[in-house]
Amino acid sequence: MLITQIKSIKEIIKFGIKKIFVIKCIGCKEVYFPEKDVDNLINELTNSNIEIIQTISTEYLCNADFSKIISEKYKSQIEYVDSILIFSCGVGVQVVSSILEDKLVLPGCDTLNIPGYQGLTSQNFNCDLCGECYLNYTAGICPITSCSKSLLNGPCGGAKNGKCEVNKEMDCGWEKIYKRLSKFNLAKKQIDVVKIRNFLKLQEGVIGEKNETV
Ligand code: SF4
Ligand code: SF4
Repeated sequence: MLITQIKSIKEIIKFGIKKIFVIKCIGCKEVYFPEKDVDNLINELTNSNIEIIQTISTEYLCNADFSKIISEKYKSQIEYVDSILIFSCGVGVQVVSSILEDKLVLPGCDTLNIPGYQGLTSQNFNCDLCGECYLNYTAGICPITSCSKSLLNGPCGGAKNGKCEVNKEMDCGWEKIYKRLSKFNLAKKQIDVVKIRNFLKLQEGVIGEKNETV
């Protein structure tokens, strides 16, 4: 059983969203989904002048085939909005984010760490139930599961040719995050919010050290 907990409206609106498409994953039976709280939050968003183009409920958003069907079905509405707000576990958000590459996909929930069966999860994405979902800061790519070291504030600096220094079969999660944030012009903003490390500073430090010893 896993439990999702609704994020605060403050956390959701800080990305400057104006027109949104809302997806509620009423989920597999293994997920506790607080639907009443979600509806209250949706009302709050409307009262805060966020235009909600459409709200839909679905099941198994974590299944990429289902999510692709939904994306096709609501294509015209999705094209019209600036962001997609998703109430689901972390896997559902990541799956939709990977399908709607040109849309900012934001989580409306935190997924809590409750031991036990997690329901249907896709093979390509994972959620470690960290309890404080970061996907709104990382453009829908989970830093906990896509980075070998689960770093929250940027890369370790060891990636080579886009591959992780721990596992060379795997793309560096933080390189993917940075590229996707850049696509939405959010990289600079997130450098301040998440304090993404600037490895140029490290290089400058090395150069400075070399200069001292020369
Ligand atoms: S940040 Fe990752 S591990 Fe944490 S809730 Fe979100 S998807 Fe799950
Ligand atoms: S190379 Fe990238 S994915 Fe690997 S540990 Fe470092 S930051 Fe994480």
